Formats: sequence, C-alpha cells, structure tokens
Amino acid sequence: MDFSAPDSDIIAHGPDIVAALRAIVPDGVVSDSASLAAFDGDALTAYRQKPLVTVLPRDAEQVAAILAYASEHGVPVVPRGAGTSLSGGALPRADGILLGLARMSRILDIDLENRCVVVEPGVTNLAITRAVEGRGFYYGPDPSSQIACTIGGNVAENSGGLHCLKYGLTTNNLLGVEFVLMSGERIRLGGRAPGAGGLDLLGVVCGSEGLLGVVVEATVRILPKPPATRTLLAAFSSVPDAGQCVADIIAAGIVPAAMEFMDRRCIAAVEAYSAPGYPACEGVLIIDADGIGAEVDHAIARIGGIARANGAEVREARDEAERGRLWAGRKAAFPAMGRLAPDMLCMDGTIPRHKLPLVLARMARMSEEYRLGFCNVFHAGDGNLHPLIIFDTMKPGEHDRAEAFGADILKLCVEVGGVLTGEHGVGVEKRDLMPTMFSEADLAQQQRLKCAFDAGGLLNPGKVFPTLSACVEGGHMHVKDGRVPFPNLPRF
Ligand SMILES: Cc1cc2nc3c(=O)[nH]c(=O)nc-3n(C[C@H](O)[C@H](O)[C@H](O)COP(=O)(O)OP(=O)(O)OC[C@H]3O[C@@H](n4cnc5c(N)ncnc54)[C@H](O)[C@@H]3O)c2cc1C
Repeated sequence: MDFSAPDSDIIAHGPDIVAALRAIVPDGVVSDSASLAAFDGDALTAYRQKPLVTVLPRDAEQVAAILAYASEHGVPVVPRGAGTSLSGGALPRADGILLGLARMSRILDIDLENRCVVVEPGVTNLAITRAVEGRGFYYGPDPSSQIACTIGGNVAENSGGLHCLKYGLTTNNLLGVEFVLMSGERIRLGGRAPGAGGLDLLGVVCGSEGLLGVVVEATVRILPKPPATRTLLAAFSSVPDAGQCVADIIAAGIVPAAMEFMDRRCIAAVEAYSAPGYPACEGVLIIDADGIGAEVDHAIARIGGIARANGAEVREARDEAERGRLWAGRKAAFPAMGRLAPDMLCMDGTIPRHKLPLVLARMARMSEEYRLGFCNVFHAGDGNLHPLIIFDTMKPGEHDRAEAFGADILKLCVEVGGVLTGEHGVGVEKRDLMPTMFSEADLAQQQRLKCAFDAGGLLNPGKVFPTLSACVEGGHMHVKDGRVPFPNLPRF
C-alpha cells in the first residue's frame, strides 16, 4: 500500500499546532510520543502511524473550533471514534491532527414518544440499547464490536451487524445528525420527524467515512423489543447445502431476524475459544426469528423444515442462556482467529446470494494458490461475506500474500455482480480497488461531492479515493499563497 509522504512543513509547525489545540481544549491534547502510540491505528493492524497530535474535545463547540483552526492552517484531520475500523478508516497521519470523539459520550435525550434517542458521537453502540432496554426498547444495528464501537464511527461506516437482515444498517436507523464541516460551520441534517425534504444529505453523510465532516450528535431510531424470539442452529455436512438452505429460506418469503454462517474451521476455533456448544460439522447456520409468538412459531417451523430438506440437523436453543451462548460464539469469531494464527485480515464483500456456491468454491481454490488458510463467516441472509484470512506477518511474504488473496476475493465479489464492501467501509484497505468497481466518471462525481464539503481535501485524506481529484477544477480548491494542499498526491 502506497501512502503519500507527510508534509514536512506541517510537521515543523507541530509545536504551534499543539499550542493552538491546547487553547481550544486545555485538558484534552496528547502530544508526547509515548502517549501517541495509543492512537497509532485501528483494527486494520497491519498499518501503524502515530499522529502529529491527538485532541479529545468534550463538545461540539470545541470540535467546530478545532476544524476551523485546521482549515485555516491547512492541517489534515482524521476523525476517530473507538478505533475499531477494520478498513483503516481511522489510521492517523504523521502530519495530521487525530480528532478523538470518545469523550463526547453523553446520551442527550431518550424520546420514547418519537421512538428515538439523541446521543453524542462517542456513545457506544451497546450503550444505546443499555439505556433503553429497561423500558422495552433496543437499538437495531448490532455490530459484533458493539461493546466498543461508537455511534459516530457507525454513522461514518454505515455499520451493520447480525440483525441487519431484518432491521437494516445504520442508514435505515438514523434519523438525523449534527455535523461539523471542515470550515467549522455546524449543520443539521434530518431530525426526529422522518422525511426532511431537500436533497438527502443525511444519506450522503451516512457511510462517508470521515471524509465530509464530523458527526457531533446523532438521532437514532429505537425499536420495541419483540415479544418472542426463537433461535435455531442448523448443522450441515456440506457447505453448498447450507448455501442452498439460505437461498430457499429467502425465496420462501421468510425474513429471519438474523441468519449467520460459520464454516468447520471457524466453528472449531470458536469452540476452542469460548465453547458455545456448536456441533462438529462442515458448517452451521444460526437463525433467529422474532415477532409475535404465533408468527415466530410459524416461521421457525418453516425454517426448520427447509433446513432439514437441505440435509441439516436442526436444534433449537432451549432458553435465553443458550440463545445468548450461540450468539456470543458468533460474535467471538474474529477474536477466536487468534487460536489459528497470529494475524488475521477480515475481508468484507457482498455478493448476490445465488453466487454463494461459486464464490465459496473459488475462494477455496485461491486459498490453495496463496498457501494461506482462511475461515468463512458471513451474514448469510444478505450475502455479506467476511472471509477471515489467517497468516503470520513474521513469516516472509505472508502479509503480502494475505493482502493479494484478500484483494482477489473482493475483485471476485465485484466480478459476480457484488460490491467491494458490505459494512466495513473502504478506508485504506480497499482504496486501490475502487477502480475495479467504479468507472472514472463514477469516481470523479463522488469526488466532486467530497469537494463540495471539503474543498481543501483536509478531512481524512488518503482514504477511500485512490487519487485525490483537484477540487480547483470545479473552482472549489483553496489555494493559499500559490500552494495547493498535498502537491505530492497524484491528481487527475
Ligand atoms: C471484533 C470486531 C468486530 C466487528 N464487527 C462488525 C460488524 O459486525 N459490523 C460492522 O459493520 N462492523 C464491524 N466491525 C468494524 C467496526 O467496529 C465498525 O466499522 C465501527 O462502526 C467503527 O466504529 P469506531 O467508533 O471504532 O470508529 P473508528 O474505527 O474510530 O472510525 C471509523 C471511521 O469513522 C470515522 N469516524 C469516527 N467517528 C466519527 C465521527 N464522529 N464523525 C465522522 N467520522 C467519524 C473515522 O474517521 C473512520 O473513517 C468490527 C470490528 C471489530 C474489531
């Protein structure tokens, strides 16, 4: 992966930048090298870079002042929530400010009448559910990282989770944001009432990976807890049978609340890690049905019948404790990979469901070609694959082979009519693959939008777009003293 050289001029002005940030956030500037190590990357662990400085604002006003200062002085800014991005979205820059939002962690309002909660960006995903579960509600999107990841990061990545098959991704559960632009201006998009009118900028902002502005407040929809939930575990002796079962359930018009797949190797790793009680077999599907009792009973009977018709042995979780164990095992799939190898790359591509058998077979062949193991975990219902490539970065060549293997998987996803990412974003990880999915005109149009929000290209530069377009072409770029920002980056 190529990264642009940091701007030595900005680095030379480091002490001035630190002093200016201290004037804005007196108790929240981290600038010594040892402490900056805590902020040197995210969950794409292959890439590390200490920021020039980290600033941890406490409120929106401070965020606005930081961005206005950075804009005025041409200093790049990388927003960060909890740093759990798997695509390197929060990877800092040596010549940039890391803007950590985790201290903005207040729940501002619980509005049951409008079925929404208003939160600051550093509130964790799980904290929203915890705040309302006593009153019979929960927040729908449930990434496996929900104990740590923040709602600001969820909005930026348009995150999903196990139950998004029925309840949607972040974008389907986001009602509004307050957003700070690079200039320091604060704007409001959406709100508690749906259908704001005007262009759907809320839709644009959700999934914008920290490139367009900083979320300082989010209003999210909450859902009433379903009166009944039942969980089935279907064990298959062949992976294609499991794939066919998924296709048959969806084709029958059933929408399970969740439908997750794990293959044999993954099952073994998870069993060794947390012993949730999975059977030894080629693959399992864990399937939730929820709703009112009679509806759930009907769905479970049909799902069980379809699974058995595809050769599965089916058992149902007897109680809440067993349900919890089955799902905790699935959520532990990523950390459990540590049992198999020291390093892991978690890929994230989405394919049309009927291509599943073909893609699984091709990935197995690639694994042999690259001489690297991998596990298959995926959100089966929506075709969102998470192949986990395992390797040892200390072994010469393994990291490069793992990246090439991952890139080939994503190219295959696009080739069969799918997309480069389901929920983890592009970040730096998939940046150079963008042209496999988008034409030059597609990318140019996306970058015009970026320019409309951030003409100087200062917000999270080096992410998502393989090259930085010249905003000046559209009359937008800020040219100061005859210098364009980042002259060393290729432009078209
Ligand atoms: C073990 C594990 C399991 C995971 N499981 C899932 C899963 O099931 N589903 C899923 O979708 N993802 C999953 N992820 C990925 C990750 O947790 C999500 O992408 C999450 O939304 C990132 O949130 P964060 O607070 O950690 O953001 P960060 O990693 O800090 O940042 C992510 C991106 O958001 C931007 N950003 C952060 N805060 C803001 C803000 N306030 N305003 C503007 N931009 C901002 C950053 O610049 C960066 O581009 C998993 C990660 C791990 C490590």
